[in-house]
Amino acid sequence: MKPHSSGVPAIALFGGVFDPLHSGHIAVARAAVRKYRLDAIFFIPSGRPPHKAQGPITLFEHRYAMVVLACAGEPRFIPSLAEADTSGAGTFSYTIDTVRRFQSQLAGKASRLFFITGADAFLQIGTWKDPLALLDSCDFVVAHRPGFPVNRLADAIPAELRAQPQPSARRGRVSSRAAAIPLRRTTVHVLETVSSEISSTGIRQRRKHGRSISGLVPRLVEEYIEKQALYRA
Ligand code: ATP
Repeated sequence: MKPHSSGVPAIALFGGVFDPLHSGHIAVARAAVRKYRLDAIFFIPSGRPPHKAQGPITLFEHRYAMVVLACAGEPRFIPSLAEADTSGAGTFSYTIDTVRRFQSQLAGKASRLFFITGADAFLQIGTWKDPLALLDSCDFVVAHRPGFPVNRLADAIPAELRAQPQPSARRGRVSSRAAAIPLRRTTVHVLETVSSEISSTGIRQRRKHGRSISGLVPRLVEEYIEKQALYRA
């Protein structure tokens, strides 16, 4: 793969349940590649995500297969087994552990690491495992998602991590135009060049009611969902 930029390689991790991966995820990933000149994005379907411990989720194998199909023909998109539950113990996967694993693999190689989330997920960052260490560990790209105000993102960040008061901030909020929130060691980049209403929940609902999902997921993913009769019940 040709480097996207002349500087150190820029690598992003995009974690998710991906039940299923949809065109909103792809739009976010493409916008992030363009804006941050990313060389590679690792799509990491979660084994057993702690925040979805209650509801049933589709088998990891199906979710991973859809990630693989969505990455086909996209040289910068890499399907990752980093959170596959290889032990079969059904243990939870935590983002901080995944980020650390990638960092140790990258140790010694000059690179820049980002973690991509949607605004909805980032607004909950305080509930993730070890949020201080996580936000200290790599830069974040937070994608705009309709219905989730990006001007509240700073409120989700523990106060001790903020580098200094933002000139544009008023009582801990950033202006909706702020493109980045500097933290003590890292930066939270706000990706506003994308806006997609698509959600996995919406897709599962449409399938349940026998409605088309054409255009809402990549074509090969749609074909896979159809062949495997996923989300029908
Ligand atoms: P569900 O509807 O089941 O909650 P989802 O559509 O949010 O699923 P996930 O796999 O849980 O999909 O999301 C993985 C990551 O992608 C999360 O950080 C989420 O915020 C982000 N994301 C998902 N859909 C969008 C979207 N339309 N726009 C921006 N970010 C998104």
